[in-house]
Amino acid sequence: MTAAALPKPPNTILIIDDNPDTIRLLSAMVREQGRVLFATSGAAGLELARMQRPQLILLDVEMQGMDGFAVNEQIREDPDLRSSAVIFVTAQSSPEAEIACLDAGAVDFIPKPLNAAVVQARVRNHLRLQSALAALDDLANQDGLTGLYNRRYFDRQFAAEFARHRRHQLPLGVVLVDVDDFKLFNDRYGHQRGDACLREVSEALQDGARRPGELAARYGGEEFVVLLPNVTPATLLQYGDWLCRRIAALGISHPSASAAPHVTASIGLCARIPTEGDSAAAMLHAADMALYSAKRAGRNRSVLAGDTLPEMMTG
Ligand SMILES: [Mg+2]
Repeated sequence: MTAAALPKPPNTILIIDDNPDTIRLLSAMVREQGRVLFATSGAAGLELARMQRPQLILLDVEMQGMDGFAVNEQIREDPDLRSSAVIFVTAQSSPEAEIACLDAGAVDFIPKPLNAAVVQARVRNHLRLQSALAALDDLANQDGLTGLYNRRYFDRQFAAEFARHRRHQLPLGVVLVDVDDFKLFNDRYGHQRGDACLREVSEALQDGARRPGELAARYGGEEFVVLLPNVTPATLLQYGDWLCRRIAALGISHPSASAAPHVTASIGLCARIPTEGDSAAAMLHAADMALYSAKRAGRNRSVLAGDTLPEMMTG
């Protein structure tokens, strides 16, 4: 998914409270401000938060088992959850209790007994703020020319996905895409047409990375990168072949190109289950070597790291 293509999802508000009556009351108060989810324990709330990534969490301080502070601490420590804002809900209304909530990293504090107008006003303000922060985040993560994610964002996500796939022992796929003979294209048509060409290629990349967790980014110049979670080498190879055809099918005229009279791309693929000695950089390097093989073998093709092309063996 690209930064530009991110649909504006409805706001999600997660209520974590061990008292079902409070959940019922709070839900009724905020139901017009977003999609409301709830959990009756800290552990269940954290699990739901990880799956649903709520904008706002209304978190009961006094809970059996894991209390609100402990839940909040886990939220703050989890890179996937850090962007969810927490509002503590508590019967402790002393200044000290309020300060303790804010010191813990909560954005606000709602006192019990609950007042509908106060709850709605605070939730509304924080949802607005969250949406402005998300828009800023999108801008900071976006490549200006293509609207894809930028390299900085990709590097961060790649590191996180690499760690997650290593933890769960799942195969991770990374794809390097390089537009063939792009310098010749710019020489012939000028940089404006060159930019337009990169935008069209970006759209093709974005078409191929729409499932949750998939991510297409501009890596630099005419080089792009795609991250595909939980993908086998065989599926990745199919993806690479599909992408090659998809980019060629754009039909962007390029008479000076060596592989075809239109714009094509060479693609290097790497899919593997990360191990202890492995690194994201090593995976990217393997994809880069595969990309180099694709170039050497005549461009307009995809090569899977570890595979040797017949063309390579015959020189
Ligand atoms: Mg409670």
